[in-house]
Amino acid sequence: MPTVNAFAATSASEPLSRTTIERRDVGAKDVLIEIAYSGICHSDIHTVRGEWGDITYPQVVGHEIVGTVTEVGSEVTLHKVGDRVGVGCMVNSCRECENCLAGEEQYCLNGNTGTYASVDRDGSITQGGYSTHIVVVEDFVLRVPEAIPFEKAAPLLCAGVTTYSPLAHWKVGPGSRVAVVGMGGLGHMAVKIAHAMGAEVTVLSQSLSKQEDGLRLGADHYYATSDPETFDKLKNTFDLIVNSVSAKIDINAYLSLLRLDGTLVSVGAPPEPLPVQVFSLFGNRRSFAGSGIGSIRETQEMLDFCAEHDIAPETELVGADDINEAYERVLASDVRYRFVIDVSTLG
Ligand code: NAP
Ligand code: ZN
Ligand code: ZN
Repeated sequence: MPTVNAFAATSASEPLSRTTIERRDVGAKDVLIEIAYSGICHSDIHTVRGEWGDITYPQVVGHEIVGTVTEVGSEVTLHKVGDRVGVGCMVNSCRECENCLAGEEQYCLNGNTGTYASVDRDGSITQGGYSTHIVVVEDFVLRVPEAIPFEKAAPLLCAGVTTYSPLAHWKVGPGSRVAVVGMGGLGHMAVKIAHAMGAEVTVLSQSLSKQEDGLRLGADHYYATSDPETFDKLKNTFDLIVNSVSAKIDINAYLSLLRLDGTLVSVGAPPEPLPVQVFSLFGNRRSFAGSGIGSIRETQEMLDFCAEHDIAPETELVGADDINEAYERVLASDVRYRFVIDVSTLG
C-alpha cells in the first residue's frame, strides 16, 4: 500500500497537522490520482470539529479534488494516464438501490461512500483530498474540461455541483427570480450559475461589504439581511431561494420572501435545527426543501456547463501550512470566495 503525505485533524479541537496515510493498491477498476489542488469546504470544518457528530481521528478531509491520473487498473475504460480529473464528495455507492439505479447515487439508500469520514467498502474510514494522492473507482472520477483552469476547478466538485443541482432541479431559467442567502463558497457559485442559467439573481448577505463583488459575479440586486427593511421590501418576490448559510438563521423570515409556489432550498448544513412555522408555508403554497451535493452525471453536466459558460470560482490559493488560518477566515466569513490548497506544498 502506498504511503502518501497528508494534512489531518487529530482531534476536534487541535489544529490540523502534517501526517502520512496509506492509500489502497490500485484495483482493477481503480484510478490513482496525483492531487494538484484541493478546495476547503465549510463541511470540512463542521466534520473535523465534530459538529455533525463524532468522527474517528486522525481524519483527512477535502472533497473538492483535482489532479492527474498516474495509474489505472486493468479494467479501467473511462480514464487514462495523464487525464485531468476531479473527485467530489463521494467515492462510491451501493449501485443497486432504487436511488442508485435512478442515477441519484448521492441519495443512495444504503448511504453513499463519502470521500472522507465514511466507512469504505473494505471497512476502513475514507480519507479525503488534503493529501498528495487518492485511489478512486473509475466511475466516481470526473473529467475536468480543458477550458477550466486547473487551480480554479477544485471548488466546482462540491460548491459547484451542490448549487447547480437545486438550480437545475427547480428548473431555473430566464424569468426565474432567484435569491441566494450567504455569499461564501457555495453562495458565490450559486450566483454565477443562476445568472448563467438566465435568472434574475438577488444576494441576501449579512452586510453590504461584498456588494460590489456580488454584482460583478452576476447578481442583479444585493441586500443586507441586517437591515430589517430588506424583508419588507422583498416580501412575496422569489421563485427559489438557495440558503447556503452554515449557521442557524430565522428560516420563517426568509420563507416570507417566496412568491406563489416558491421553494426555499437549504444547502447550508448548520448543526442546529431550523424551526419552521407551518403558517410560513401556507401563504403562497410555499415549500421548504433540502438538497445534498449532486449525482456523478450531474457533476459532469455542471463541469461541462461551467466550461461552456466560462464560469470558474473566485479562489485564493494557500499552502498546506496555511490551512488552519484559512479555517479561521472561513468561520469569520472572510473568504473571497473559496480557499484552494496548492497540494504541491504537501510534498
Ligand atoms: P462559507 O464559505 O463559510 O459560506 C457561508 C456563508 O454563510 C458566509 O460566507 C456568510 O455569508 C454566511 N453566514 C455565515 N455565518 C452566518 C450567520 N451566523 N448568519 C448569517 N449568515 C451567515 O461556507 P460554504 O463552504 O459555502 O458552505 C456553506 C454551508 O453549506 C455549510 O454549512 C456546509 O457544510 C454546507 N454544505 C452543504 C452541502 C450539501 O450537500 N447540501 C455541500 C457543501 C456544503 P455572508 O457573509 O454573505 O452573509
Ligand atoms: Zn463540500
Ligand atoms: Zn444505493
